[in-house]
Amino acid sequence: MGITQIDMEYFIMNIDKKLFTLKYSPDIQSHLKPNKKDCKNCKTKACTFICPAQVYEWSEEKQELIVRYENCLECGACRIACEHKSLDWKYPKGTKGVTFKQG
Ligand code: SF4
Ligand code: SF4
Repeated sequence: MGITQIDMEYFIMNIDKKLFTLKYSPDIQSHLKPNKKDCKNCKTKACTFICPAQVYEWSEEKQELIVRYENCLECGACRIACEHKSLDWKYPKGTKGVTFKQG
């Protein structure tokens, strides 16, 4: 089976447009649980820039990590990047989480 016109259009889309093609079925609880104390002491806050879906944001005001787990792509990059290895990372349970249209 060759590459179709639709396949080609998908390949050349930018990341924002690709994210729009995904379907999410978020759980009521987060599957991403960072250790709050470690996050406070974390110098790099690597999760806030490694995540392609911008799930993590450091709040200076609250002095805590905001986790928008509903947008998670389940790629696992944050788990590897966390310098304290203090991210309790699980796949969302059952049929919850992200569904990829193109495989
Ligand atoms: S990289 Fe790990 S320790 Fe640092 S802010 Fe992110 S989750 Fe917390
Ligand atoms: S698994 Fe991937 S998409 Fe989900 S929060 Fe971590 S880096 Fe972001």
